Amino acid sequence: MNTIPSTVPHFAIAIDGPAASGKSTIARLLAERLGLIMVNSGAMYRAVTWKVLQENIDPHDNAAVLAMMDRIRIDCGHDGITSTIAIDGINPEEELRSEAINANVSAVSAIPEVRSKLICLQRGYLQHSSIVMEGRDIGSVVFPDTPYKIYVDADEEVRAARRTDAGEVDSVAKRDAADSGRKTAPLMVAEGATILDNSHHTIDSAVEAAIDILKQQGLEILD
Ligand code: C5P
Repeated sequence: MNTIPSTVPHFAIAIDGPAASGKSTIARLLAERLGLIMVNSGAMYRAVTWKVLQENIDPHDNAAVLAMMDRIRIDCGHDGITSTIAIDGINPEEELRSEAINANVSAVSAIPEVRSKLICLQRGYLQHSSIVMEGRDIGSVVFPDTPYKIYVDADEEVRAARRTDAGEVDSVAKRDAADSGRKTAPLMVAEGATILDNSHHTIDSAVEAAIDILKQQGLEILD
């Protein structure tokens, strides 16, 4: 259901935070509730990493990764309210959460030229509709001017347990250290963002907390 007045021009809600903080779940439910498209920017970095590994390219070899970026075609779209990505016509969605991608995505996403290409595609979504986009640099770099910014955090043990419970092999702490320590667009609390501590929320109460924050930030939401 769309609970945003229809006269409002396109806008972006930025949801950033560390790995497994619950930001995807919150972003998806916000999109459902508000009638927006949910864009998972992490899936874009994961898809590029999938292609790097498919082609047996060393993820730390920037020149080889960039040469690959120049020859591949990346198509972004959406299926219902959820963003999709295809590389050279293949949607690798089923493989994006593999151990190998978890282990290598931070190296690929630290390459500035990879980021600038994907950021263009991320901004492109706003031409077609209002969006909730989740990631690491959405409020700081991709849409720094949006007034709607939430930084979802959670205790490290809670986040690690979420990944294990989901059956994933993912060194959350290592990925966060790499994502926070990189030079270009590091994970950070964007200027103007409100922190939502998701360590002890239920899914429903986390979404309610996010809605309250967005209302305080001035988003007009019809009840
Ligand atoms: O959100 P998710 O855990 O799927 O993101 C996977 C990885 O993609 C992150 O660990 C980070 O290295 C990268 N990423 C990024 N910037 C974003 C979204 C994700 O660098 N906006």
